[in-house]
Amino acid sequence: MKSISGIPASYGIAIGSAFVFDRAEIVIETYSIKDPAAEWKRFEEAREKTHHQLDEAYQKTKDDCGEEAAEIFNAQKLMLEDPELINTVKNQVEKDLTNIESALYKTAESYAQQLEAINDEYLSARALDIRDVSSRCLRNLLGTTDSPAAALKIPSIIVARDLTPSDTVLLDKDFVLGFCTAEGGSTSHTAILARGLGLPAVVGVGTAIEDIQNGEELVLDGDAGVIVINPDQGALEEFSSRQEKFYKLQAEAEAITHQPAVTTDGHQVEIVANIGNVEGVQTALDAGAEGVGLLRSEFLYLERSSLPSEEEQYQNYKTIADAFGDKPVILRSLDVGGDKDIPYIDMPAETNPFLGVRAIRLCLSRPELFKPQLRAALRAGYGNNLKLMFPMVATVDDVLKTREVLEECRGELKNEGFDVADEMDIGIMIEIPSAAIMADQLSEVVDFFSIGTNDLSQYTLAADRTNAQVAQIASGFQPAVFRLIKGVIDAAHSNGKWVGLCGEMAGELLAIPILLGLGLDEFSMNPPAIPFAKQLIRSISFKHAQQVAQTALDLRSDTEIREYIQKVIPEVNIG
Ligand code: PEP
Ligand code: MG
Repeated sequence: MKSISGIPASYGIAIGSAFVFDRAEIVIETYSIKDPAAEWKRFEEAREKTHHQLDEAYQKTKDDCGEEAAEIFNAQKLMLEDPELINTVKNQVEKDLTNIESALYKTAESYAQQLEAINDEYLSARALDIRDVSSRCLRNLLGTTDSPAAALKIPSIIVARDLTPSDTVLLDKDFVLGFCTAEGGSTSHTAILARGLGLPAVVGVGTAIEDIQNGEELVLDGDAGVIVINPDQGALEEFSSRQEKFYKLQAEAEAITHQPAVTTDGHQVEIVANIGNVEGVQTALDAGAEGVGLLRSEFLYLERSSLPSEEEQYQNYKTIADAFGDKPVILRSLDVGGDKDIPYIDMPAETNPFLGVRAIRLCLSRPELFKPQLRAALRAGYGNNLKLMFPMVATVDDVLKTREVLEECRGELKNEGFDVADEMDIGIMIEIPSAAIMADQLSEVVDFFSIGTNDLSQYTLAADRTNAQVAQIASGFQPAVFRLIKGVIDAAHSNGKWVGLCGEMAGELLAIPILLGLGLDEFSMNPPAIPFAKQLIRSISFKHAQQVAQTALDLRSDTEIREYIQKVIPEVNIG
């Protein structure tokens, strides 16, 4: 028996044998051609065939796993038609007289490597998509179709270095028990797919994946991010009983997910979703979201080669806000810089990008970037419940300057005859310790706060959130972070303002009782966490949560807090 660990990407426990997914690499030869027009014609035929296959893959994935997982195939179609990519390939074929396979392979690979170099989890996942769609097109050019998926004949845990969307669409989902990949993070395709299928997944296990042999017995724990190879009898029994308990809880949680999150003594909080695009809307609504607590607008700026226009942004935000009707949708203005880079936005290299011109700082320094987004938001918020929120606020001045630009946009729009939202609520993210400390003053100039614990933890503990070596230090469960959160909630409430939290912690069952007890009003989380969060809140009393939160604040460490909650609120142990 041996255990390896990775990133927990989708709840649940799977027990079964390993199916090691070993994709045969395609061999690409480079040679000179004489007839570029004939070569280009071959490419056009292959592209047409690829489009057709992607449409089929979209439909099949939509039927099997839902729209969010399927959407990737539409994005892949766009990637294959990217004008820059096509031009580069064309130049190589027409000017350098290179064969199409080699030109396509080299261009796609260079794009993928550029995306990977940015060191962003989301963009790395898109690098995989570029390789996936170009391989599909290359296979069409070469007339090969081999995939190991056809060999999956018994229920198994899929083990792979990385799974591309094209690999997974061919897998017979009746035989998939869970996923384990060496690469990828929580936004990788495997993670999205697993959540869509409601199957457990552990991703990013690294080279340890090589310890798993085809056919070996495995236990995969999607809550803890652990894989046990060849479990002994004791471990098997323990995980089987946890699995049974999990299924029961999952069914119970899903059954109540469209009901409000009210504690046993009548205290109600709001449970909303974190989403990134229009595709996330239905998933959020199905999961029981009472609105959107964080619409990460930067996703609209990724996967493209130029800025989205005001009109495009307007359409996008309006579609999402309208889909939620009276329910609130909180649009966060562009949050780039730090670990999120957009290649076509010219941002000077910084020694310390997390402490540099990031998010609201970037927007305030670049009106040509900021104003179209504000204008789009003000227009989109007309006739619905759209709210606007600003990331990385450090000072009261940041808010005042932002409000000035916003009012300028409102005035301009009115002069131009547009309908604009007059009453749009304005909030800020509390993710910098200075903002948490100044919460009393800040709550006088905004309508609400949303605490961003992903960043608040890293800035409070001075531990980079992208550095696995200091992940434990950067934890939101550090008492210092909880103490800051308490200060923020108390300050806002004294000024009659409400407080949400949209960092990953909002959906963590261990954190929920403490946040609830501290008086948090709104919890914003990834949609799959919603049923479990509601179930937990409905099973505990506010009074107990308040006592527990008080005690937790006096504990000394992250570990002490976690152990304490597990002991006093056993409902948090679902796995
Ligand atoms: C946060 O910092 O907690 C947050 C929600 O923002 P992001 O993870 O997008 O930086
Ligand atoms: Mg943040």
